[in-house]
Amino acid sequence: MRSALDPPGDGAEGSPVVIMHEVGIMESAIAAVLEQARQHGARKVHRIVLRVGALSGVEPEALRFAFDIVARDTLADGAALVIDTVPARARCPDCDLEFDASPGFIFSCPRCSRLSGDLRHGRELELSQVEMS
Ligand SMILES: [Zn+2]
Repeated sequence: MRSALDPPGDGAEGSPVVIMHEVGIMESAIAAVLEQARQHGARKVHRIVLRVGALSGVEPEALRFAFDIVARDTLADGAALVIDTVPARARCPDCDLEFDASPGFIFSCPRCSRLSGDLRHGRELELSQVEMS
């Protein structure tokens, strides 16, 4: 049986440098998916849902492109990839309000104007759901 954890040969696929980051992320995601498939004795992965934070620095389009490369010839080949974008949310250290955070690193509380760098959501990068049979 093929193991998802094996290093991918010499790795010289000639992929564009701009998506190497996403390829690495997708390799980890697909490895986790294939491990789940192996544990369940699945023959085919139908659908994969990834939660991607708005501030995770990952491009959904690059992720899709990476998916096509990484999933090829695995049980996940041809699976639907759903990218669930998580909006950025920060928490105020003074009044404890959780509020929408626009892109950046420091956020201002809409209730008391206190600056907060306490980002609670928006940097997620996780596998949230896998459908297989
Ligand atoms: Zn506040």
